[in-house]
Amino acid sequence: MSYDIVTIDGDGIGPEVCQASIAVLREACGSDRLNFIACEGGALHYQRSGQVLPDDTLAACRSAHAMLHGAAGLPGVTYPDGTEVGNDLHLRLRFKLDLFANVRPIRLLRGVQCPLKDWQPGQIDYVIVRENTEGLYASRGGGVRLRDELATDTLVVTRKGVERVARFAFNLSRQRQGAPRDGQRRVTVCDKANILNSYAFFRAVCTEVAQTYADVAIDYAYADAITVHMIKKPDFYDVIVAENMFGDIISDLGAGTVGGLGVASSAELGEHHGLFQGAHGSAPDIAGQDAASPVATMLSAALMLRWLGERHADAALLGDAKRIETAVEEVLAQGLVVPADQGGKARCSEFTQAVLHQLR
Ligand code: ATP
Ligand code: MG
Repeated sequence: MSYDIVTIDGDGIGPEVCQASIAVLREACGSDRLNFIACEGGALHYQRSGQVLPDDTLAACRSAHAMLHGAAGLPGVTYPDGTEVGNDLHLRLRFKLDLFANVRPIRLLRGVQCPLKDWQPGQIDYVIVRENTEGLYASRGGGVRLRDELATDTLVVTRKGVERVARFAFNLSRQRQGAPRDGQRRVTVCDKANILNSYAFFRAVCTEVAQTYADVAIDYAYADAITVHMIKKPDFYDVIVAENMFGDIISDLGAGTVGGLGVASSAELGEHHGLFQGAHGSAPDIAGQDAASPVATMLSAALMLRWLGERHADAALLGDAKRIETAVEEVLAQGLVVPADQGGKARCSEFTQAVLHQLR
């Protein structure tokens, strides 16, 4: 079987990291297994065409097996009303394709300096599942602003939304290879149930879902407290599930604990669609200089193969995913070709060549 993959280079460093990852996918899977369909979208495309997510791009995304994106958003590109276009390409795709689970693995790789004390690779290995379609970000664009005196947004939590993301988190805990220090499978619910009604509901629905997963423990942490725990005892975690905004914040924190955004992968998944891209934004400060690290996008491409492999019962893809992860980690561990964000001098293109070489 061959798979249609929609690629969108996007903005800033997006084209560099996306093309680097396509090259790695081609090398790992061979040229006939993946059919890459290059599409347009993002802030720069909006500037040129007036469309952030063109209809033909949306149609291609709907019918593809998966999507691999660079990054989207450029400061200063605005809609006529003055609001930033930003990452709207992905926000729109999230809602149109119902990508309700944003999966962010937090794993310390060999060769990456851990900014926390002396944690070793293998000791930090957990996953944050961010609810991706409701919460505080659901009302984006619909908030109220009263002259220059008052502004509000609405935090939306629905039973259906929490049930599905909680089930996703529990299922993920069951399937995962990595385990927390004490060997107990667990889902930690991150909220502020002590302060807001909507978060208390989030917690209550997660607790109901947990009843049907006797083998996975449920655990609770307030969003403020978890920021300390993630620094002090990162080996405690297995899967963390969080409302949209809290998930956004703690997943960047988690990335910071294992080497930063340049090595953090991400998958946005729904029942029918999967969108894969590095956890970082378009980093316009280093765009076009061949200075970006393609690690995050390459690891996201590996997540894509794993997701496709599981959906289509294609063991070869699972093997290819593992080969990409191993090759990327091996290059980092060798310490000869080190990306700039990890303290080295390697260009994006040099790192890509090293990974291609490793795969061969
Ligand atoms: P967004 O709003 O889309 O989340 P952001 O404002 O959080 O974007 P990013 O684009 O994610 O910002 O990047 C923040 C900084 O991190 C960048 O300015 C850049 O210096 C660094 N950075 C991000 N991604 C990479 C990468 N792949 N390689 C090297 N440095 C990176
Ligand atoms: Mg960000």
